[in-house]
Amino acid sequence: MSRVTVVGSGASGVHFALTLLEKGREVELVDVGTEAPSPQLPEASLLELKEQLERPVDYFLGDALESAVLPQNGDDIYSFPPSKRYAFDRPTGFDIRTDGFDPVYSFARGGLAEAWTAGCYPFSSTETIDFPFDHAALADGYDEIAARIGISGALDDLSRFYPEHAHLQPPHPLDEHSARLVDRYDRRRQWLNERLGCYVGRTRVAALSRALDGRPPCANLGRCLWGCPNRAFYTPSLTLEACRRYPNFTYTPGVRVLRFVSSAGRISGIEGKGVDGAPVRLPVDHLVLAAGALSSAEIYLRSSAPEPGPRHPPRALSGLMDNRQMLVPFVHTGMIGRAYEPRSYQYHLLGMGFENEDPKHYVHCQITTLKTALLHPVIQKLPLDLAHATRMIAMIHAALGVVNVNFHDDRRSENRVEWTPEVGDAGGLTIRYRPPSDEGERIDRALVRVRRALRALGCVAPKSMTHMRTMGTSVHYAGLLPMSSEDRPDTTTPSGRSREFENLHFADGITFPFLPAKNLTFTLMANAVRIAHADF
Ligand SMILES: Cc1cc2nc3c(=O)[nH]c(=O)nc-3n(C[C@H](O)[C@H](O)[C@H](O)COP(=O)(O)OP(=O)(O)OC[C@H]3O[C@@H](n4cnc5c(N)ncnc54)[C@H](O)[C@@H]3O)c2cc1C
Ligand code: SF4
Repeated sequence: MSRVTVVGSGASGVHFALTLLEKGREVELVDVGTEAPSPQLPEASLLELKEQLERPVDYFLGDALESAVLPQNGDDIYSFPPSKRYAFDRPTGFDIRTDGFDPVYSFARGGLAEAWTAGCYPFSSTETIDFPFDHAALADGYDEIAARIGISGALDDLSRFYPEHAHLQPPHPLDEHSARLVDRYDRRRQWLNERLGCYVGRTRVAALSRALDGRPPCANLGRCLWGCPNRAFYTPSLTLEACRRYPNFTYTPGVRVLRFVSSAGRISGIEGKGVDGAPVRLPVDHLVLAAGALSSAEIYLRSSAPEPGPRHPPRALSGLMDNRQMLVPFVHTGMIGRAYEPRSYQYHLLGMGFENEDPKHYVHCQITTLKTALLHPVIQKLPLDLAHATRMIAMIHAALGVVNVNFHDDRRSENRVEWTPEVGDAGGLTIRYRPPSDEGERIDRALVRVRRALRALGCVAPKSMTHMRTMGTSVHYAGLLPMSSEDRPDTTTPSGRSREFENLHFADGITFPFLPAKNLTFTLMANAVRIAHADF
């Protein structure tokens, strides 16, 4: 049986690879693969780190204070902590051009989800109506992924939006702020459901509440934001470790793949650059691109683009999608003056969903109550001097929260990536994105419902604090080479096989024909498993 070469060790690539290994296939995984630094004082809680580290400022803000959010950074209230910056390092010579889109790339071992917030939401059968296969095949993938990575949550009012899957672990304990919101929801449920089409419940998160495969449950260290030191919080590098235990697996890090080499529609090898810039060439029997939708598109275009010139327009792929995200900060008046709990799971524990007439247009929200996040970006926004602002924040710290509101996206021809030979050291992409014409109206309608729901839950959400995130920053990239049952150029078969190259598959978000409002990574992983079962 032929050997399969997978490019990319992100969420998509590692689950595709592991499924093939379990089936006894020989797999080589090629990756840039920047490594994470080792965790510091792995047993310590966040507060213990502050006390025990020799120079805590280096850990929390960086030795050049590169993670401090300064007033001149505009509306930003968050920057990646120093311990996670490696995940966003780009290889020398890599470049892109952008217009209306601000993409985030990762070339790390494990990819973007080394720095994710672990929200895992299965798409419903309505949301996958444009996917050219039976939803049951994806449902099997969700079950398999949940067993592998460990997902905690509950079957509650949000199950009407998040279908049930096997192997769901019990939810993490609620902090006081989240518990009070739930309590208030219980009392206002009927009004919220009937008047606003609003439902509140537990989010599903890839962080263990029970031990799994040698990983301990969450120890409430409160370090999620800085990188979980005890492996309770799932990242794809854990699955890469599992792959490396198979004798039929080869891991080849340190290679930036530039192109594949083909003749008569059959790929025979890949070419790239090593970390030292030296050229690398590897033979290939069967190639699977799982480098993330944008990087897979870049490798595909570079490999198949004709030489540019007056008679050859630049080659492009259209239909790029990402979720628009709005941030709605709020103050929960009942929590003012209460203490916050630093020894607890730090990301969202609650979600909020809004029905829409068309169920594909459901609006998906995650509610994060503020615990150990850095507060200096909030303090400096207050119209007070430092001493008073700090005292004020101490009083309302436990009452602060933010709702992250997500919207669906469609494939539209104006949203495209174009092959641009003069970008970077080996050509690169120009990425263009324009929001749909009715976006403003759609957002306004949804935000009115979000604010009314928050009011019913006892919270104040000042309109002026609402922040629209730049397109691209939600990092849910999809589209460009959609799966289709029709044999059309620049599509793949329903199982992700290229229609142009017989021994090429895609196993990441590039093949999604539609993007619901939900975070997509659980579906990326489930779909990678589905493709590995379908065609290999
Ligand atoms: C801060 C943050 C929070 C997030 N939170 C969530 C969340 O809560 N829920 C959710 O569903 N999603 C979330 N995401 C998005 C999620 O991380 C991504 O959807 C997911 O990681 C994509 O996985 P992927 O494997 O398709 O691609 P990537 O993660 O981009 O992995 C790409 C892999 O390919 C390799 N690679 C790329 N180009 C090349 C090349 N040319 N040659 C060789 N190797 C290459 C990289 O090294 C990497 O290993 C979040 C992302 C971020 C940044
Ligand atoms: S609170 Fe976060 S960092 Fe601590 S053990 Fe749990 S998941 Fe890991």
